[in-house]
Amino acid sequence: MARRESRRGLQAPAGSEVAAPPKRSLGQNFLVDQNISRKIVAALCIEAQDTILEIGPGRGALSTWIAMAGPGRFLAVEKDMALAMALPGRAAGVAVAVMDALRLDWTRLGRLPRLKLVGNLPYNVASPLVWDMCAKIPVFEYAVFMVQHEVARRMAARPGTGEYGALTAWMGNFVTVDYLFKVPPTVFRPRPKVDSAVVRLVPLSPGPRPESLSGLATFLKRCFSNRRKQMRHTLKALWTDDVAQLFEMHGYLPSCRAEELSPEFFRILAKTLKIHGAS
Ligand code: SAM
Repeated sequence: MARRESRRGLQAPAGSEVAAPPKRSLGQNFLVDQNISRKIVAALCIEAQDTILEIGPGRGALSTWIAMAGPGRFLAVEKDMALAMALPGRAAGVAVAVMDALRLDWTRLGRLPRLKLVGNLPYNVASPLVWDMCAKIPVFEYAVFMVQHEVARRMAARPGTGEYGALTAWMGNFVTVDYLFKVPPTVFRPRPKVDSAVVRLVPLSPGPRPESLSGLATFLKRCFSNRRKQMRHTLKALWTDDVAQLFEMHGYLPSCRAEELSPEFFRILAKTLKIHGAS
């Protein structure tokens, strides 16, 4: 967590209440259905030794249930200062940092014992946050996130389907994704225009990792920029007998499309083609 921005133990003045209207710029659609809150927190299976990190606790719809479950440590990251200050009054024991979750230092957070992540993620933050988090966090137990329904479907998609894309192929190198349940707009205030869904991410057991994270990211974005294009055309400048043989060994035709290739094959291909990104 970025130290200088951290505000541990922030406390709202006695009697103060959050009166500000929801901020659209921060994706503030607050959950108001206790059953859904309880179901999301139950999916974390909180135990006394756990460290919970909640992203965007807002008015505490999930935080109160998390605090009641009694984790060993409860951290939260909220960009809205007023909401962050009010949180300890709603969820006992939480330590809140006022900061942009997109700036979290995942490598450091991964050292926390039995780390579980949770959040009803704002729409514009969900994909970039999950993209970074699942690749950079060294160890965690699992993560339970509510995201836009369409994004959840993409995260959990299988190769060969229309929903399978760069995000799926990327995540598939680090985690498995379980689609848990759909959530309708009626349980939020204000109501969003689209459905949401809850997913659980479980890290893959240690195995080969991408040689260059930025290389794989660049490669996937390129391959999926024209998803209907045949791979031998996408890779035209790089297509050699060795590449053709690699496709054959893995059971793929040169005419196949990016959406047919497994996450693992993308990793192998990026390594073979020695694709390195900016960093
Ligand atoms: N967890 C609450 C709930 O379920 O009602 C609030 C969810 S609301 C969809 C998203 C929350 O994330 C808001 O409280 C918003 O202020 C916060 N937020 C938005 N962008 C953020 C960011 N980049 N970093 C941290 N928090 C953010």
